[in-house]
Amino acid sequence: MKAPQIKTALPGPKAKALIDRDHQVTAPAYGRVYPLVVKQASGMVVEDVDGNLFLDFMAGIAVASTGHSHPRVVKAISEQAKKFLHICGSDYYYEPMVELAEKLNRLTPGTQPKKIFFTNSGTETVEAAIKLARYHTKRQHIIAFHGAFHGRTLGALSLTASRASHRAHFGPLIAGVHHVPYGFCYRCPYQLKYGSCGIECVEVLEKVLFRYEVRPEEVAAIFVEPIQGEGGYIVPPPEYLPMLQSLCRKYGILLVMDEIQSGFGRTGKMFACEHWGIEPDILCAAKGIASGMPLGAMVARAEVSTWTNTTHGSTFGGNPVACAAALATIQLLEEGLVENSANVGATLKDLLSRLKGHHPVIGDVRGLGLMIGVDFERSDGSHTPDGKLRDRVMQKCFEKGLLLLSCGQSTLRFCPPLIVTAEQAGVAVKIFDAAIAEAS
Ligand code: PLP
Repeated sequence: MKAPQIKTALPGPKAKALIDRDHQVTAPAYGRVYPLVVKQASGMVVEDVDGNLFLDFMAGIAVASTGHSHPRVVKAISEQAKKFLHICGSDYYYEPMVELAEKLNRLTPGTQPKKIFFTNSGTETVEAAIKLARYHTKRQHIIAFHGAFHGRTLGALSLTASRASHRAHFGPLIAGVHHVPYGFCYRCPYQLKYGSCGIECVEVLEKVLFRYEVRPEEVAAIFVEPIQGEGGYIVPPPEYLPMLQSLCRKYGILLVMDEIQSGFGRTGKMFACEHWGIEPDILCAAKGIASGMPLGAMVARAEVSTWTNTTHGSTFGGNPVACAAALATIQLLEEGLVENSANVGATLKDLLSRLKGHHPVIGDVRGLGLMIGVDFERSDGSHTPDGKLRDRVMQKCFEKGLLLLSCGQSTLRFCPPLIVTAEQAGVAVKIFDAAIAEAS
């Protein structure tokens, strides 16, 4: 299938009919971004019900890591499905779950032994991490960051602060959560300049939070995304994560890395925190781990994983079919997809950076590997974010057959499947270029 190929107005007649049916029966809470109605998808290409072909640079929100329905992942799924679908890994034992836990022990940063708790999603993984952090430390307080997205169940939502509307009317959320600004140099929350700022975004924890709000001895964990995802694909300054790690060690606070979006090769390394040499106490994974099968994993250092039997569990977590998909996914990642993410990611970032010269509305191009954000702003030099223009560009890209997704205030993210080629990156950037010209 050669994409893009757009044959109908969008949405086409069949897509429109299905959307009308959908709106009668599904929850109005869903925030659909554009009217894409999928019939099938393969590799980098998504076909809609009217026969339009789209080039996929959003991968189902950074999930379809090996491309859509990779034959080896599908084979692993069907072979496991023929054996058994479910037996409940919280209560019984089976090999795919053990094998995957062994793999994750080896793959995740740090050589010390780890213990894995399997879940069905990102948010459930974060819930597990909150519970373990409190259980192990016997401390209640948790620190998270403005712009963070950790999920939507009530515990994880208490840490999420990427949009006030996610939290509105759902309170009271869990107590003891404190938010501080994230390290975002392009729009520094303290209006300082990197180089002379003294990394105020970390210093503020000791100078302000620990002084006025909570004693560090009462803090169980700091939850942080190594690169903020939903918050706008924000890469913090180089000192940021190492300084957070030092602070955690100084006060016996657990460092929890939320790698749900950035993990499994997305940034050109297996896990994003490897770019900074960080070894977290707990690592949260989901999304790309199983190419689209619902699976999450909380990886904790064995000495932190002190909870005893029956303290936590999950009926579906670590489902054998999902574990089989994860094992096949990891094999593909190790055979070259992580490297491809680094290489094609560098090409894509370079091509996108070059567009800056042609379009003054592009303020910043940032990211690592295939986790790249393009930030839109007013072209008057004020760096004022322009979310409306960003939305128009995304819509135009959709109409031209390129699937992108927004994040943050004014950012479009490029997070294609890790099988993407340099040629496809070139095609995407050409479409993006034309879409910006039309939208602005
Ligand atoms: N953490 C991060 C960093 C995420 O990006 C997301 C989802 O976007 C989540 C947690 C929640 O994952 P899920 O939607 O699978 O619950």
